[in-house]
Amino acid sequence: MYDYLIVGSGLFGSVFAHEAKKKGYKCLVVEKRNHIGGNIYTYEKDGINIHKYGAHIFHTSSQEAWDYINQFASFNNFINSPIANYKEEIYNLPFNMNTFSRMWNIKTPKEAQEIISKQRSEIKEINNLEDQAISLVGHDIYEKLIKGYTEKQWGRSCSELPPEIIKRLPVRYTYDNNYFNDRYQGIPIGGYTQIIEKLLDGIEVRLNTDFCKAKEELSKLAKKILYTGALDAYFDYSLGYLQYRSERFELERVEEENYQGVAVVNYTEREIPYTRIIEHKHFEKSSSPVTYISKEYPVDYKETGEPYYPINDKANMELYNKYKELAKTDEKLILGGRLALYSYFDMDKTILASLELSKNSLK
Ligand code: FAD
Repeated sequence: MYDYLIVGSGLFGSVFAHEAKKKGYKCLVVEKRNHIGGNIYTYEKDGINIHKYGAHIFHTSSQEAWDYINQFASFNNFINSPIANYKEEIYNLPFNMNTFSRMWNIKTPKEAQEIISKQRSEIKEINNLEDQAISLVGHDIYEKLIKGYTEKQWGRSCSELPPEIIKRLPVRYTYDNNYFNDRYQGIPIGGYTQIIEKLLDGIEVRLNTDFCKAKEELSKLAKKILYTGALDAYFDYSLGYLQYRSERFELERVEEENYQGVAVVNYTEREIPYTRIIEHKHFEKSSSPVTYISKEYPVDYKETGEPYYPINDKANMELYNKYKELAKTDEKLILGGRLALYSYFDMDKTILASLELSKNSLK
């Protein structure tokens, strides 16, 4: 008999399994994919670590999360400084003085502030996402850098999207292209999979095993179940389907040393169907003579079967809460991770939440 059956070998399940093993608990991890690591999985090709499920940049202001992850890998000093390409015009992100100087041929923060505040004041009433974005950054930035990108992401026009999707749009009046404000940032040298391998060292893992397809039989094997999969799937969708947005990643090998000169380029015009191109070699400054790029196409969850971004609108949250109530009736069941909690979590928050659960439930 196992103490814990852990469903999912992503970061949440793996941190919990590691902590449980340290305290002497016997764990079994089941994973429906053919590899461990969940969405942070990376693999090597021609000396380049490929981020299979989209660019993963570790960034945090939490000393605890940073110290924890550094036990399992050495991090480089990668700083995310993405570029936006709008109809061949190149802008720096996040919105900062480099962006404004390119957009309006100005030099000082005062000039930028004047233009933005004049454009912001044109919006008198906020009825949709378009109004919301213009009221935060003005129409030039909205038209060139937000509109097309957001419409591709959500598959709907900005004037039909609710304003709540964008709560803040950080605008920086400094020449600073560092996307994140966090104290720590980097990429694990050698990729993310080694972190999961070390976390799961000495723990039994069964790959290609979908818990939901053998729920009864697998549940009998352990005293407790930590479930990190989608909550509606656990209950066989008995109350209905939760909705997500997904992405299709198209990986290409390019016979060039340096394709775009930076890890991330956002394509912000609507006419280009992908939102971003990731060039993987820049994460770890690989000297490979070839390169790999991934184009990211936002798609409906039904197309890929991969639930990436929960759609936390009213209807979905009501459904999720019904499933959560149902989950409370199952004494063996513990929920954790981004899927079971129907939320988006960065990696640092995932580690912290898993450590919190470990502290509370592993004596
Ligand atoms: P997952 O990684 O999804 O792991 C869940 C695992 O459970 C999966 O392996 C899945 O196959 C398995 N599973 C599900 N159902 C079953 C079942 N029925 N039976 C068996 N196994 C099952 N975070 C950052 O900090 N920085 C970033 O730059 C960043 N970029 C991201 C980009 C994208 C496109 C996405 C989607 C996320 C990004 N994240 C980023 C977030 C990061 O991926 C998550 O924080 C992390 O993966 C969460 O780990 P998890 O274990 O909760 O979930």
